[in-house]
Amino acid sequence: MRTNETSGKITKSAYEELILICSKALPMEACGVLARSENEDAATIIFPIKNVHNSPSNSFSFDPKEWTTAFFEMQKKGQTLVGIYHSHPHSAPFPSLRDYSGFLPSSELTYWIVSLENSLAPNVQPYTKSNGYFKAVSLVLT
Ligand SMILES: [Zn+2]
Repeated sequence: MRTNETSGKITKSAYEELILICSKALPMEACGVLARSENEDAATIIFPIKNVHNSPSNSFSFDPKEWTTAFFEMQKKGQTLVGIYHSHPHSAPFPSLRDYSGFLPSSELTYWIVSLENSLAPNVQPYTKSNGYFKAVSLVLT
């Protein structure tokens, strides 16, 4: 039985990189995955993946080729996939209707939304998704 509450654990440097990547993608949504190195329990690595959605300013979908490359890169380095992130260039870090109808599956992964609504104060909110519902979990910087 799992007794630990899932949380969004991330190292400070990975967190800063995540925000930088999302800021650079403006005015489009950025997307990608978070991974952790062996013997780490926090996300340590960010893999940006090209957003190939046909309306990238308010939706995202992974470039399948870059996603595959990132996945094999992780395997090669013994890293573990922990989550999927995307940004909200102009809205709060709440899952949108598009996020609900999009491709994010219910799973053990965490789903991170980086809100750049206030560019001076980016707001990052991790979620879990089960039975089709997103549930906010706490962000923990390590
Ligand atoms: Zn979204």
